[in-house]
Amino acid sequence: MSGLKEKVIGGFKIAKGKLLNRCSPLEINIHITDRCNLKCTYCYSNFYKRRNPDISKEQILKIVDAFKELGVLEVSLIGGEPFLHPDISEIIDYIKDNGLMCSMVTNGYFLHRHLAAVKRLNMVCVSLDGPREINDITRGNGSFEHAVKALELLKDNNVNRSIRSTLQKNNLAYIEDMMAIAVKFGAILNFGLLFPQSSEDGQVKTISRDTPEDSSYRQALKKIIELKKKYPSRFFNSVANFKNAYNWPAGYTKFFLYNDELKDYPGFKPVPCYGGRTFATVDTDGRLYPCTNLIGYYDAPNVLNTDIKKAWQSIKNHPCKACFYLSSVEKNLVSSLSMDAIWNILRSKGVR
Ligand code: SF4
Repeated sequence: MSGLKEKVIGGFKIAKGKLLNRCSPLEINIHITDRCNLKCTYCYSNFYKRRNPDISKEQILKIVDAFKELGVLEVSLIGGEPFLHPDISEIIDYIKDNGLMCSMVTNGYFLHRHLAAVKRLNMVCVSLDGPREINDITRGNGSFEHAVKALELLKDNNVNRSIRSTLQKNNLAYIEDMMAIAVKFGAILNFGLLFPQSSEDGQVKTISRDTPEDSSYRQALKKIIELKKKYPSRFFNSVANFKNAYNWPAGYTKFFLYNDELKDYPGFKPVPCYGGRTFATVDTDGRLYPCTNLIGYYDAPNVLNTDIKKAWQSIKNHPCKACFYLSSVEKNLVSSLSMDAIWNILRSKGVR
């Protein structure tokens, strides 16, 4: 979220929801297309191999309408590469014309073709994993060049921007280089940790070969916590979030902990999960999950052929209770009214 007014409204909604024990969605992620022009080696859904058709513009607008009625404040368009959706500009315009915040995650290749719509976005997150020679190992030749061109264009047009940098074994030694790139383009650094990778049908999950040793991940997280304390407004995620990942009690290939597994880690205090209560994700096949991380993990309701409000009501009772995914945990912290996370949002606003 990037609008201060919407954040204040969001805060009130969370507080009211807590008091009344009701679930109101604040943010919905929509995977609008599987198609992608890149083949990143660690891609969590192997989107470029999947064959789901794009969600049509009409279906997307229907989903937006239903979630607006439920109280959503922000729609995040993700893929695949969302700019490959043929109706992307109209979709952004519709979301903005309806008074909602709209953000996007992109590799930056096609952003310049949709500048009028891009200027209306509240936040554009460009994926970039390090300096050219490091970034292009996993994201492909030329991807650095396109990402920095997109960041330049966003900067020239004063669009809020962040850099999504997935921490994996190739780039752990380049965290300070990423800081320098973020400063150069006036962007917030948004680190992520690796997800398991899905097979083409989404059923089989495997560990990416780019996954570092646990000790290397932990060392990198420690470094980020130190940098975050020094440059508090440059990072998208709060200290509490990085600490949750740093203190993750299982290995980093144990991606989440279900309710019945928490007893095995008695000293660990998980950040409460609000997936399916204040945020959710629609996959390209229309299935509605509590969060992106749970895609393919269970038989989720499909918003393309069932009542969207009923689908929303049905997903809150899932067994997943803890994770280390920085983007989801940040939402969980905000929804828990963590002062560190709330202060972090306010502080990172307007970073250039
Ligand atoms: S604990 Fe994390 S992975 Fe599990 S549902 Fe919640 S946000 Fe998603």
